Amino acid sequence: MKNKNMLICEDCGKNISENAGYIDGYPYCAECYRHNMNYNGIHDEGYRPKPVFFGKGEYYKITVDIDGGGFLDTKAEMLLSAFNKKRGEHMYAVQNEKLKKGFSLVFSPMTLCYFDKNIGWKKLKKTVFDMGYRIINVNISAVK
Ligand SMILES: [Zn+2]
Repeated sequence: MKNKNMLICEDCGKNISENAGYIDGYPYCAECYRHNMNYNGIHDEGYRPKPVFFGKGEYYKITVDIDGGGFLDTKAEMLLSAFNKKRGEHMYAVQNEKLKKGFSLVFSPMTLCYFDKNIGWKKLKKTVFDMGYRIINVNISAVK
């Protein structure tokens, strides 16, 4: 249903009556729009967005540390866009002090089956490698 006066913010779910900002075609309230535009690349280490679950079954949190290609928002953005149809959907990037020239990729809680179908180790490894990074640590933990 398309009603210009009943837009809902992608992030906080608030009704947006006016001043909607669009990122990748999705509407955001002024506040969330600013936040998303400002934190487009690598987030601070403590960044914890509201989790969105993918797939049906047991959920896992997957974190992949990559290093060597640089601590660069532009590269993070490129990498993320290869796996996210919209910003922050499947994964986001966070700072990791242990990585000199890299950052951590944190995935939304998802089933391993969903990960295989929609991300895939092969594609992830290749994308990361092509951008000058290598995977140096992978952590998979069950979401309780
Ligand atoms: Zn919002």
